[in-house]
Amino acid sequence: MAKKYRRLRLILGDQLNASHSWFKDKDPETLYLIAELRQETDYVVHHVQKICAFFAAMQQFAQALSSTGLNVLHLDLDDTQAFTGLPHLLTVLFDTHQIEQFAYQLPDEYRLRQQLAEFSAQLTIRSESASTEHFYLTDQELPKYFSAGKQHRMEAFYRKMRKRFAVLIDAEGNPEGGQWNFDANNRNKLKADDLAAVPKPLLLANNVSDILARLERQQIKTIGQAEPNLLWPVNRQQAKQLLDYFCRYCLPNFGTFQDAMTAQLKQRGNNRQWSLYHSRLSFALNSKIISPQLVVDTVLAHYRAQQGQLLNAEPSISIAQVEGFIRQILGWREFVRGIYWLNMPEYASLNALSAQRSLPSWFWNGKTKMNCLRHAIEQSLEYAYAHHIQRLMLTGNFCLLVGIDPDEVDAWYLGIYIDALEWVEMPNTRGMSQFADGGLVGSKAYAASGNYVNKMSDYCGACQYKVAKITGSDACPLNSLYWRFMSVNKEALGNNPRNAMVYANWQKKSAEQQQAILTQAEYCLAQIEQL
Ligand SMILES: Cc1cc2nc3c(=O)[nH]c(=O)nc-3n(C[C@H](O)[C@H](O)[C@H](O)COP(=O)(O)OP(=O)(O)OC[C@H]3O[C@@H](n4cnc5c(N)ncnc54)[C@H](O)[C@@H]3O)c2cc1C
Ligand code: SF4
Repeated sequence: MAKKYRRLRLILGDQLNASHSWFKDKDPETLYLIAELRQETDYVVHHVQKICAFFAAMQQFAQALSSTGLNVLHLDLDDTQAFTGLPHLLTVLFDTHQIEQFAYQLPDEYRLRQQLAEFSAQLTIRSESASTEHFYLTDQELPKYFSAGKQHRMEAFYRKMRKRFAVLIDAEGNPEGGQWNFDANNRNKLKADDLAAVPKPLLLANNVSDILARLERQQIKTIGQAEPNLLWPVNRQQAKQLLDYFCRYCLPNFGTFQDAMTAQLKQRGNNRQWSLYHSRLSFALNSKIISPQLVVDTVLAHYRAQQGQLLNAEPSISIAQVEGFIRQILGWREFVRGIYWLNMPEYASLNALSAQRSLPSWFWNGKTKMNCLRHAIEQSLEYAYAHHIQRLMLTGNFCLLVGIDPDEVDAWYLGIYIDALEWVEMPNTRGMSQFADGGLVGSKAYAASGNYVNKMSDYCGACQYKVAKITGSDACPLNSLYWRFMSVNKEALGNNPRNAMVYANWQKKSAEQQQAILTQAEYCLAQIEQL
């Protein structure tokens, strides 16, 4: 006869917060459930490293909880294969263990929050939900900062957050360094001389062979390169190690080269500097292995200690680097979460620019002649990672320019990246990158021609296309596609003063030039699979 428990507490794969108040309670009659589920591996086609990272982290979390004396039931995909989904599994476990009370932490994805709310509503036993205790803002506070269907600006939100949480605020209540935002200092290209200084990323090696075998046994469809020694952090100690490494070696140049892109360091083996000065903390954060507060506090402590010259053997860190990094966590990360929750479920079907094209097949294998896109897609398939500007200004920009259906764009981003969870993926993809929300997240569409790519990267020199050309068989496709995009979407974008110069430049072109560019763009669209 199975053991009787009074209460079952559910822990989802992205709720691995060891500091949660739940775990202070050592009630022997509580059973904690952590389960690998087919409904989670199958709702989109994920990168294989993403599934391995979540499953490995769940396994380690279950072991860590057990070692503190809590009762933990960790079920893997083989154990749960007979269940149709989470409600079915829970119903059977309630029965088996004579559960009288069910508790769960509020899921951060709408899909799961709905599922658990509906499931709980029909239960005859007591049921309650709790906060994940992870974010700076609680769920209840979000409506104080965000309204449904309203345009919000990250900068205004970020200043409120800085003040409220007293981050980089001086004794008079002013921003430290005299400015709220040092973004203008953060737009450098990596020149040849800078490349040698780029630090090697700290790559972990977690053996996930068992998980890979399980995925194969259960015939889970995945994309991307499998890696038996997973390089992502899957427990708190590893996440802290990565955070410490970031503070020491990447933070001093984080802001300066935040937008830079390079293909020259891509040689697996000796030079694996594919993440440049980025932290690669997004998986550890989004699975809640570490908290945003811990990350921000650690970065600040490092900065202060260095100001006091305690760590003066390391490269110096300026306020611009620290502010630039904190803005991502205290600003952007909390901001997109607010946009998501106040606008779901409608947000998931917004398509302001009526984009309807399908993703070209080379998004799944990187086989395109465009060097910039090939590099970003190949890297994403290899590591389940691309940094923000690769996502926004390479793959995202291409989808925007050619008008890919935002549902397809969302599914690609939600599947391929190690950190992709809908609450953060969707506002970034559908909103910031595709402008499908009509400007709820960003004040303008992030559309760019080859000129931007050339300014921020070294991709163009080695490309089959010529970045300086707009028309002709070897012209960079992004150039004519950019002008077509701006021309076709003039009604939606033309009133934005930030686009005034672009439309003025378009008007300066003769009717023949305009026609030649539009014809070239139509040719590119017709040849999209061969670009
Ligand atoms: C189209 C598109 C899709 C994206 N999808 C996701 C996603 O699914 N999951 C995700 O976590 N991020 C997403 N981002 C945001 C950002 O690209 C990633 O957070 C970042 O690249 C993760 O790498 P890192 O940890 O090295 O980040 P760093 O550059 O080191 O930044 C530090 C941290 O700041 C946070 N952050 C930075 N930018 C953003 C942002 N725009 N929104 C929210 N948090 C941010 C992340 O937690 C990140 O770990 C997306 C961006 C775009 C343009
Ligand atoms: S020339 Fe155009 S397609 Fe080629 S790398 Fe440069 S921007 Fe990309």
